[in-house]
Amino acid sequence: MTSNPVDWAAATEAVRQSNRIMVVTHVKPDGDAIGSLLGLTLALREQGKTVDAAVDGGTPAFLKYLSGSDTILAHLGQGDWDVMVSVDASDEERTGEVGAYGRAHSPLVVNLDHHPTNTRFGTVHLVVPEAVSACEIVYDWLIEMGHPFSLPVATALLTGMVTDTIAFRTNNVTPRTMAVTQDLMLHGASLYEIIDRTLGSKPLSHLELWKLSFPSIEFDRGLVWATITLESLNKVGLDDMTDGGLVSLLVSIEEARISAVFKEQPDNKVEISFRSKNGYDVGSVAFGLGGGGHRQASGVTVSGSLAEVQQRVLPLLRVLITAPSTP
Ligand code: AMP
Ligand code: MN
Ligand code: MN
Repeated sequence: MTSNPVDWAAATEAVRQSNRIMVVTHVKPDGDAIGSLLGLTLALREQGKTVDAAVDGGTPAFLKYLSGSDTILAHLGQGDWDVMVSVDASDEERTGEVGAYGRAHSPLVVNLDHHPTNTRFGTVHLVVPEAVSACEIVYDWLIEMGHPFSLPVATALLTGMVTDTIAFRTNNVTPRTMAVTQDLMLHGASLYEIIDRTLGSKPLSHLELWKLSFPSIEFDRGLVWATITLESLNKVGLDDMTDGGLVSLLVSIEEARISAVFKEQPDNKVEISFRSKNGYDVGSVAFGLGGGGHRQASGVTVSGSLAEVQQRVLPLLRVLITAPSTP
C-alpha cells in the first residue's frame, strides 16, 4: 500500500483497529523525538490501547521530567504489534535496533515526520515538512482523532515545539506555531519549565568538553568548524551523547554562514552536525552524504578518520557558501 504524504484517515484507521501499538523514534533522541514519542504514546494509552514506546538507550537524563518517560524501553527482545508508528525519524536506519525489531514484528508502519529528507518509508505517511516539529504533527493528529489534551500529553508536545525551534528562534516559526503553543499552554503545559529544563541547563561535562574542544575551532571565509576527539569525550565521561549545542553556538557568530562539528566515534566513524544561516541548505549536504535533517540543521555519520572526513566534507561546505541556494 502506498499513501499520500499526509493520510490522516488511514493513520487514524490503523491505530483505531489496533490493540497493540509500538512507537519508536530516532537514535540519540532530542526533545522533539521524546516529546512526540511520549505525546502519542500517552494519548493512545488514554484511549485504552496497549502501547509500547522504545528508543535505543532509553530516555536521556534531561528529558526524564516528562511523565511516562520511565516507561520508554531501551531495548526490545520480545513482542508483536498490530502497528508501529515511527516519529521524528527521516529514515529507517535512524530508528536504530528497536526500530528494526518493531518493523519485523508489526505488519503496518506509520511514518510521522517533518524532515524534508524523509525517505517515505513505511505504509502510511504523516510527513509534513512545514511542521516545526514532529510534536506539531502529533498535535494535529490528536485533533483529527478528536482526542482531548491531558496535561502530560500537552507537556510532552510543547517540549518538541520548544526544542526543535530553539525556543521559537528558527526561521520556520509562523503564527500557527504560536497558536499551537498557546493551545498547549492553555492545557496546562508550562513553557517556562520546559525551556528551563531543555535549553536552559547543561551538565558540567558539556562545559568541560567545550573547554577541551574550543582550541580546535577554525574559521575560514564564512565557514566555522570544531573537532571533538574520542579522547576528549572519554576524558569528560561522555560517550557519544550530545555536545551541548556547540554547533549552534558556532553558527551564531556574525561572520559565520555555516558551522560544522566533527565528532570522532569508535570504529573509525565521524558524526557531523551542520547548522547554517538562512539561504544555505545544509540539509542537502547531509542527505548527499547519507544523513539528513533540515535546511538549517542537519547531520550525518560518515566512515573514516577525522582528517579524512574533514578533507571530504569541508570542500562541500565551501561550495555551498560560494553558491548559496534560494531560501
Ligand atoms: P543534530 O546536529 O544532531 O542536532 O541534528 C540536526 C538535525 O539533523 C536533526 O533534525 C536530526 O534529526 C538530523 N540528523 C542528525 N544526524 C542525522 C543522520 N545521521 N541522519 C539523518 N538525519 C540526521
Ligand atoms: Mn529529532
Ligand atoms: Mn524534529
